Amino acid sequence: MRKLKVKTLAANRLKKGYKALEEYDFKTMEDVAQGEFVEITDQNNNFIGKGYIGEEDRTVGWILTTNKDEPIDSNFYDRHFRMAQNARTAYYADKSTNAFRLFNASGDGIGGITIDYYDGFYIFSWFNKGLYDYREQIYQAFKVAIPDFKGIVEKIRFKNAEIQSRHVAGATPPEPLLIKENGIQYATYINEGWMTGIFLDQRNVRRRLMEEWGTGKTVLNTFSYTGAFSVAAAMGGAVKTVNIDAARRSKAKTIEQFEVNGLNPDDHEIRVIDVFDYLDYAKKHQLKFDIIILDPPTFARTKKRTFSVEKDYVGLVQEALEILADNGLLIASSNTWKLSRDDFYQMINEAFDKEEVDAYLLEEYGLPEDFKINEQYPESDYLKVMVLEKTS
Ligand code: SAH
Repeated sequence: MRKLKVKTLAANRLKKGYKALEEYDFKTMEDVAQGEFVEITDQNNNFIGKGYIGEEDRTVGWILTTNKDEPIDSNFYDRHFRMAQNARTAYYADKSTNAFRLFNASGDGIGGITIDYYDGFYIFSWFNKGLYDYREQIYQAFKVAIPDFKGIVEKIRFKNAEIQSRHVAGATPPEPLLIKENGIQYATYINEGWMTGIFLDQRNVRRRLMEEWGTGKTVLNTFSYTGAFSVAAAMGGAVKTVNIDAARRSKAKTIEQFEVNGLNPDDHEIRVIDVFDYLDYAKKHQLKFDIIILDPPTFARTKKRTFSVEKDYVGLVQEALEILADNGLLIASSNTWKLSRDDFYQMINEAFDKEEVDAYLLEEYGLPEDFKINEQYPESDYLKVMVLEKTS
């Protein structure tokens, strides 16, 4: 195994348990190949850890062990899958929820891969080509560690991959695959593309919408995708939801989410329109909502505009505040690792100040426990959800 020296600053970080390798950690990466296992040392050749090279958005590889004698072999993967499963026995036992994250990359000890459980089917997402080269060995270890799977599907999320999704083993998931979360059903499609129809990391927010916030309320769900937040609110007794998404496919999928729960989609509005255009329209018509949900993607290009959280979130919150009812709730969410919790909170505050609206932070959410994070790697703790109650 080749030795790679990291700069002193990086060495200090890695010795504290940080697992991500970044390009600027190295003076030179010479001719290291994707998928190559390497021994990381400090400038004095002291051993720090063993890992592999695999390029992702912000990282070039991952440390897998700090034990010099531990081999990275089938046993290594097997053991990590079993540990991840043991840590989630409460999720497997929960009768009202059957979709969750089984394995969360560096949080579960192997950066570059996540595994989601969807009612007996397992979805592997591969974030770099380096680790993907070992997929046969890794699937084999998985099948030994967790033999009772219905089927395995993979999502390939690194650049220049020829396909996004592929069936790997066992049964092919039905379309749709109906999963359950806190007693609510969601129609998911796991044979195509990266997105399945639901973002499991928002589970706790959906639960609160159902149990508490939604009752008797009107809800504006922007960037609504398949309307998952709205379905949760409606199941909790929301009188009406308005769903806004620019993607044409969102409409049929949102109708389906209501229908699989016995809700009448005609009681709700589902509009294929740019969020900013709708906000203008709502303001012009003096509409007001008791709850407004803002959960945009980090970056999106639609026919009319490009949206980025860093550039546009303050303005988005400002526009939402203009149509938020007195004592209404604003649910502001972002999943970008580029903003810390405090940066995000600051942006929301800036919008409230500009609009001269007062509020207090009612509740705040991050990732649920199944999305286990690596404490030493704060970027993995990407989800920020702030629930603000307008007071004037
Ligand atoms: N909040 C959703 C997930 C949002 S995914 C949930 O919890 O399920 C992001 C969605 O934003 C996509 O469906 C995309 O079509 C939509 N989108 C991106 N830019 C948009 C824009 N300017 N106007 C409306 N929808 C937009």
